Amino acid sequence: MALLSSLHGSQVTLLSVLLLCWAGVCGGIPDPRQRELLIQQEASRQTGGTVVLTEAERRLSAQLHKLKQREMEEPQFPPAIHFFKALPLIQRSPVFRLLQKMPKGAALHIHDFAVVGVEWLVKNVTYRPHCYICFTASQSVRFRFSAKQPHPLPQCSAWVLLETLRGKVDNTTDLDNSLMQNLTLFTDDPVNAYPSQDIVWRRFEETFMAALGLVTHAPVFKDYFYEGLQQFYMDNVMYLELRALLPMTYELDESRHDRAWSLKAYQDVARQFVTEHPDFLGARVIFTAHRGLNLTEAKAIVEEAMQLQKRFPEVMAGFHLVGREDGGRPLWYFREALSLPAELGVTLPYFFHAGETALMSEGHPMVVSSDDPATFGATGLSYDFYEAFVGLGGMNAHLGTLKELAINSIRYSSLSPELKDKALALWQRKWDKFISENSQ
Ligand SMILES: [Zn+2]
Repeated sequence: MALLSSLHGSQVTLLSVLLLCWAGVCGGIPDPRQRELLIQQEASRQTGGTVVLTEAERRLSAQLHKLKQREMEEPQFPPAIHFFKALPLIQRSPVFRLLQKMPKGAALHIHDFAVVGVEWLVKNVTYRPHCYICFTASQSVRFRFSAKQPHPLPQCSAWVLLETLRGKVDNTTDLDNSLMQNLTLFTDDPVNAYPSQDIVWRRFEETFMAALGLVTHAPVFKDYFYEGLQQFYMDNVMYLELRALLPMTYELDESRHDRAWSLKAYQDVARQFVTEHPDFLGARVIFTAHRGLNLTEAKAIVEEAMQLQKRFPEVMAGFHLVGREDGGRPLWYFREALSLPAELGVTLPYFFHAGETALMSEGHPMVVSSDDPATFGATGLSYDFYEAFVGLGGMNAHLGTLKELAINSIRYSSLSPELKDKALALWQRKWDKFISENSQ
């Protein structure tokens, strides 16, 4: 909260300077000191504006400034072009490479089926035995693991064993590439491929449906989450908050597991990962329902969320609604369902998407997260830090901005105060090491 009060403090000072001017104190004669003061006030209001840097941090910040300047002078400036076209440029950027090495704290907004880069799904998961595929009328695919021929799906071709299909095609690399295309929005020509919001949303939901049959196979479900933690850990992220639909998972014999199984699987995998990587802090789950539900369904799911939180307080952080906001039902529609916990005296924290854009422009504390990295052909969190630091922040953003964003991600997480202290201490050690290794 220190950040919030310091922000308010500076806003009050800025306002008082302006009021003095209106009251005639400025006297109509341009005062360079007032101008300087205003510029300083404005700089201190931006994210990281009040962070005091050490000598070594200042050296690294200056270095980053130079690198960023060079990038801005290039004929193609990555933040100014479509992300799909910018991807290869970002990967070559020295600023991006530094951001990859930087301890970024936590990723607080990640959706369950877009955590892992799609290459792993195709190269690892679809090569497992008993993996069937069918081709839909809308030019997408569905997958299913099954010990025997699965039941046909409406609007989909007959199921073919992928192993058999791979044996028949001349070029398995082409086949694998086309499978990858079905799992992400990535394309060389995004402007023509997605001419409207409706088309891109439909396509986004198709990629999700394509991944669903792979990821909800019970053994894959656990491996997928483990791989997700691994990819974020490799990208120097130390804690994750996962927005998870907790769908039913299935076995080869078509038997199914309930939501509690999925939540426990996340808890077990996160614990195992922390045991193997003691400098990682783990993950918590924000149980997520789709805003396409009607009120009765929403009430049932909020009740289930309360029960799950009671059973799994360590791993479950709260509740959230997903789906396209402008086309879907507003939160107001769900008010009776969403007020159930308060009526029963139960605490069920909410983590809604609502108003994210508006909050940013009002000087509220910010964090950077990657939401659905796999859908955009990305992994981890560094791409988002790059866009925020180079694009949104521009030349005004400096190392203090990055430091504050990383600290915010821990400070505004759902962790308990004790775990936040532990996380901040661990992050500080990683940060000091990063500074000493990279400042010249
Ligand atoms: Zn989201």
